[in-house]
Amino acid sequence: MSKSLNTSSAVWLHIGAGSFHRAHQAWYLHRLIAGGDSRWSIALANIRDDAAPLLNALAEQNGQYVLETVTPQGERQYETITSIRKVIPWDNELAALIAEGAHPQTRVISFTVTEGGYYLDNQFNLDQSNVDIQADLLGGCRTIYGTIAQLLAHRKQLNGDPVTLLNCDNLRHNGERFRHGLMQFLQLRQETALTAWIESHTRCPNTMVDRITPRPSPDVAQRVAQATGFQDRAPVMGEAFIQWVIEDDFIAGRPALENVGVELVASVLPYEEAKIRILNASHSCIAWAGTLLGQNFIHESTGTPAIYQLAYDYVTQDVLPSLTPSPLDLAAYRDVVLERFSNPYIRDTNQRVAADGFSKIPGFITPTLQECYQRGQVPTATAMLPALFFIFMQRWHQHNLPYDYQDGILDAAAVHQMFNSADPVTAFATDEKLFGSLAHSEPFAQLLRQSIDTV
Ligand code: NAD
Repeated sequence: MSKSLNTSSAVWLHIGAGSFHRAHQAWYLHRLIAGGDSRWSIALANIRDDAAPLLNALAEQNGQYVLETVTPQGERQYETITSIRKVIPWDNELAALIAEGAHPQTRVISFTVTEGGYYLDNQFNLDQSNVDIQADLLGGCRTIYGTIAQLLAHRKQLNGDPVTLLNCDNLRHNGERFRHGLMQFLQLRQETALTAWIESHTRCPNTMVDRITPRPSPDVAQRVAQATGFQDRAPVMGEAFIQWVIEDDFIAGRPALENVGVELVASVLPYEEAKIRILNASHSCIAWAGTLLGQNFIHESTGTPAIYQLAYDYVTQDVLPSLTPSPLDLAAYRDVVLERFSNPYIRDTNQRVAADGFSKIPGFITPTLQECYQRGQVPTATAMLPALFFIFMQRWHQHNLPYDYQDGILDAAAVHQMFNSADPVTAFATDEKLFGSLAHSEPFAQLLRQSIDTV
C-alpha cells in the first residue's frame, strides 16, 4: 500500500526536534494542510533532553512557529508552519514518545538524529563499543535503535499495525542503513519474535533531503517579529531551495506528498550520491578550510578563491567521473550548490557544518577516494578533504579551535593519543573506520601526507 491514506486523522511522528525537520518535512506537511488536505499532522518528539526548552516553547505556541526563507538575492519570506499538532514533552523513559509511536493512528515515523546517531562503520556494522548503544542493548532508549525497538515492541503488543520508518538524515542509503543497524541491534538482544514482526510490518524507504538550515541566530526572532508581529520563541530559518526525494514504499499509507513537490521515485540512489558527494562533502571541506582561516561563515569561506577552487576541483576532477553516467546534470548541480553556499543571507556557520567529521569522512568522502583508485586515477583533489580535517582536528587537540567541535562519535581520548603519537599522519591514514580498505594502502598514506603538507 503506497497510496495516500483516505482517513481524517493520520499521525506522522517525527523524532528529532532539530531545526532541519521544522524547515523541511514540517514545511511539506504544512503546504498540504494549507492547500486544504489536513488528513495528516505531525507529532514531534526528541530522544535527548537537549531539545526540551524548544519543545516547551513550541508547546506554548500550539506547535506553530515561523519559518523564514531567503534566496541568494536576499528575498525573504515568512510562513507560519501549522503541521505540528502535537508536541511530545521529553521524559527520561520516553514514555510519551513510545506511546505515540505505538498508537494505531501513527502511520509514519520519521527521524533526524544526525549522521552520528546511527553508530555504523563502513561495513554497516553497529559500534558496540559506544556507551549509549551498550545502554540500549540493556533495554535503554538513548539511541534511535533502543527507542524504535521499544516503540515497535509496544506497537506489536498493542495493535500490531504496520508502520513506515523514514530516515531523513544525510546518510547514504539512509533507510537501508538504519534498518540494517536496527536488525543487528535486535539480534544482539536476541529479539527473534520482534525481528520477524518488524520484517513483515515495517518499511524503511531511502530518502534524500535538502534545504540548508542553519541554527537560528537571535536576529531571526527579531526579523520574524518585525515582519509578522509574532514574538516567536521557536522560529527557524533556511534557504529558499528545498528538495525531498523518497522511494515510494510506504506500508501504511502516506500523505499526498507529490502534490507539494516531493519526488516519489523507485530509487533515490543517483540523487543521494550526487547530494552526499557534491553538496555534503564540499560543504564540510569549506567549513574545515574556512575555520582554519579564522572565518565564521560558510558564505565567507565559499567566497575565498582558494577554498572555492578546492571544492570546485574536488567535484570536477574526482566526483563527476565517479558518478557519470547519471540522470542528473552533475556539473549544473555543482554550480547551483556552490551558488547556494555563497548565499550571504543564510549566515550558516562553519561550526555547524564542520561537525561530525568522523562520520562524514567515511560516508561522504572515502567512496570517491576508493573509486578514483579503482579507475586508476590518483585522487589528488579529494585527498585535500581529509587533509583539511586532519589539520582541523590537530587544532582541536591543541585546544586551538575557535568553537566547540561537535561530533556524535568523537573518541576524544583516541584523537589525543593519535596526535601525541610519534607519527600522527600514519595513525590517521591507517584508520580503517575512516578509510576502509584504503587504510592498508601505502600510496594512499603517501598522498595524504603530501596533501597535509600543502594545507
Ligand atoms: P540540530 O542540531 O538542530 O538538531 C539535532 C537533533 O538531533 C537534536 O534534536 C538532538 O537532540 C538530536 N540528536 C543528536 N545526536 C543524537 C543521537 N546520537 N541520538 C539521538 N538524537 C540525537 O540539527 P538539524 O539542523 O536539525 O540537523 C539534523 C540532521 O538533519 C543533520 O545531522 C542531517 O543529517 C539532517 N539534515 C540537516 C540539514 C541542515 O541544513 N541543517 C540539511 C539536510 C539534512
